[in-house]
Order: sequence, then structure tokens, then C-alpha cells
Amino acid sequence: MNWRVHVLVIAVPLTVAAAFALAADDATVTLECATVPTAPQCPPGTSTGVLLISATNTFAAPPTTKSTLTFGSVDDSFKEAMAFRRGSAPAYKHVTWTTAETLAFTDRVELPLRIWAVCTDDAGTCPALTSTRRTQLEKIVTHANGKLNGERVGIMLVPANGTLISDESGTGDLTELKDVDDCAAFKEKAAMLSPARVVTTALNIYVVHTVRVRGEAGPGFGQDCSDRTKKVAVVGRKASWRTVLHEIGHMLALEHVEETASNWGSDPKENFMRDFSTTRKFFTEGQIFRVHLGQRSALNDLLNRYPTDKRFCDPSTAALPCPKPNERVWDEP
Ligand SMILES: [Zn+2]
Repeated sequence: MNWRVHVLVIAVPLTVAAAFALAADDATVTLECATVPTAPQCPPGTSTGVLLISATNTFAAPPTTKSTLTFGSVDDSFKEAMAFRRGSAPAYKHVTWTTAETLAFTDRVELPLRIWAVCTDDAGTCPALTSTRRTQLEKIVTHANGKLNGERVGIMLVPANGTLISDESGTGDLTELKDVDDCAAFKEKAAMLSPARVVTTALNIYVVHTVRVRGEAGPGFGQDCSDRTKKVAVVGRKASWRTVLHEIGHMLALEHVEETASNWGSDPKENFMRDFSTTRKFFTEGQIFRVHLGQRSALNDLLNRYPTDKRFCDPSTAALPCPKPNERVWDEP
């Protein structure tokens, strides 16, 4: 009787000891920056954050301005790491923790964008694009690029085939569809034209008179109807750069944030992927992970950037897991 109890008492601490034995010792991660060729270590001063991802868990390291990070007692079930900093694409790597790990940042991914200006005037007569309107459209892209870098998404929007904005006011087949009810039908029409008014290697944003969303036609609404081979969204003539960036988020494999503040962790209306919001201002690192590794992201569908590591994230699988969409390193905005 006593003997059995004794074994039971011993068995508990043995289990605990075995669990600790699985954890590696302190692990050092060195951050390398391709843009510093003479000294590959990233220059200190820029805030860097790291997510460690396992099949069941995500660990967000606190942001640091150093060029190395040390983790205490790393659990080797964390098999992937992604690091984030401004001015670079995230550094992504499979990690084993058998030796010190290096995470190498590369230049931001250049993602081609074409804005098709179909009908940009209030009256809906679709006149030729004025220089004022052209400048406004250029500023949308400037703002979007500033935010993509500020939020460490690691993407820079660049003109598709050398052209950022195409004046389609003379393309009657498109201007007759200026009040868009059905983004997919619009996409098919644009692809049918000769030459096609869709660039299959780029994001395509069509600025039209109005877009109908949930039964209401508005000049500030947007609608994404991208598929595997064509990244397409329509936006109304008064859509803000934040709305355009929301639609681009869809093209980068992001879904709507429908959570409440209590289960999202902050005000979800401030996230770029909130369906209806006028206060959108941030992406999370969990979302940026999807932008890069999401199966349907334009980075993979158009640029084939992560051919073996891309994955479907919702639901997340044990073989190719993803952090939760609200996982974050920085408590921003
Ligand atoms: Zn949306």
C-alpha cells in the first residue's frame, strides 16, 4: 500500500522533469539585414519583433532595438519564426534551435499595382482623368505604401508594367458599368476586352462611380472579387486610401475582422480588415504572417514567393500552423 503511494509521488515530479528536458537551453537569434552588406547584422535602433510558431501555440517576443535576441528556455516545438521591422520584408525561417539561429531580412516585396480610372467625376459622365484627380489617386498609393511600411507588412506597391494609373474614361464597355453591383461581372468584362483591362501579374483596382455593398450604392464603398489568377477590386470614386488598402488586404489573403473588442484584444474597428469602419489604422503580426504565407495571398498566387511554405490559415493545421489573426508584437496603434 505504502509502496504504491510512494511510486505515485515519485511519478509526478518525473513527468515534470521530462517536460523540462524537452525544452532547449537559452537560444540566441541573430538578425541580419541584406541592406547592410559590410556588416550583415542589422544596425541597432530599429524596433524588431519576432513571432515563434508551433502547431498549437504562438510566442510573441517583446520588441527590441538590438541586433540579437536571446530566448530563455526555448521549447523546440516552435518550428517556425517570423521577424518584423520597418523597411524590410519579414524574415521567415524554419528553426531547429540546435545551433544559434539567424533570421535574415530582405528588401520589401515589390507588388505591382494598376489603378484603372473608369469614372471619377461626381456627375457620373466619366470625363477624361484630370491632373487633379490623377494626383489624388497617386496620393492613395503613397498613403498606402507609407502605412504598409509603418506597419511592417514588408510590401511596396509599384506601378504594374511601368503604369500606375490608366485612364479608362474612353472605354465605353467599362464606363457603362460605372455603378457596379457585381464585382465579378465587372472583372469578366474587363478581362474580355482587347487589350484586356486587367493585369494578371498585378493587383487591379477599378475606380468607378459607385459600388453597391449590402444593397446600398455608395461613392466610398469597395468590393473585392479576386480569385486565384486575377486580383481585382472595385472602389467608388470617393473611396479613401484606407478603403483601398482594406481591399488590397483581401488580395493578400486577409479576411474580415468580426470580433468584439473583448475577444480581439483591442478596438477591432481600428484594424484595416474591419468590414465597415472609418478608423482603420493597423495590421497585426498575425495578419502579416498570412499576407506572406497565406495560400491565396497575391504574394503567392501572383509572385510565387513561398512555394513550399504557403498554407491555408483558417482553420490552422498542425502541419502548417498559423498564428491567430489578432496575434501581435506591438501594442499599437
Ligand atoms: Zn472587405
